[in-house]
Amino acid sequence: MGFTCLILVGLIFLAWWVPNRGLANIHPNLPNIVGIIVAILSGMAILGTGLLVLTTALGKDIFFTRFMRLVVIKFLLPMIELVGRGLGLNKDSIRQSFIAMNNSLVISQRQKVKPDRILVLLPHCIQLFDCEIKVTGDINKCVQCGRCDIKGLVEISRKYRIDISVATGGTLARKVIVEKRPKLVLAVACERDLTSGIKDCYPLPVIGILNDRPYGPCFNTTVDVAKIDAALSQVILQEEPAA
Ligand code: SF4
Repeated sequence: MGFTCLILVGLIFLAWWVPNRGLANIHPNLPNIVGIIVAILSGMAILGTGLLVLTTALGKDIFFTRFMRLVVIKFLLPMIELVGRGLGLNKDSIRQSFIAMNNSLVISQRQKVKPDRILVLLPHCIQLFDCEIKVTGDINKCVQCGRCDIKGLVEISRKYRIDISVATGGTLARKVIVEKRPKLVLAVACERDLTSGIKDCYPLPVIGILNDRPYGPCFNTTVDVAKIDAALSQVILQEEPAA
């Protein structure tokens, strides 16, 4: 991201320097005026990057976190992907950084959401391939034999009284979101699906948790249930016990 910021500042500078030669022919003060505008834009790019890094590192809402999520998702990610491709960086590493940064920005807003407005979305490959019970549609059908992570996820669903849905693809995931109208989504998926899901759902806040793929993509995948528990405990609005 820092490297992308430097490239951006370099491009802004070039955008001033190249026509600068001809600007003086229009008006003698024009190079200075354009120069000041360019300096302000460069300063904003550097300050914005610094603010983003600080917010991500500290996990605190310093300023404009909501706006920064917009900038990161709509503008910075495509640019970083482009620069990363140019530098030959691994796509998944860039996506992992993006997901981590997005999560920090969502959590740093310290938004507390009622359990019934949180939706946990799982990919169907989390369920053991040869389990005879199909939990798509209702995770509570699981008899918790413990051969896959659905067992721990059912426990989480009961602990926090939240809705957990298993989606068989991106289209179904979108349909579930439209139907349930959550205020916050916690999604489990691979780097590619999480990145596109976070982008598609904006402005809806999405916390992304990566699955592990010990048998390759989309087959008997696993997830660290403790990570889901930890993320939920930061965003869930705990009901006060009745007096
Ligand atoms: S925990 Fe057991 S019963 Fe539940 S989905 Fe996994 S394999 Fe099936």
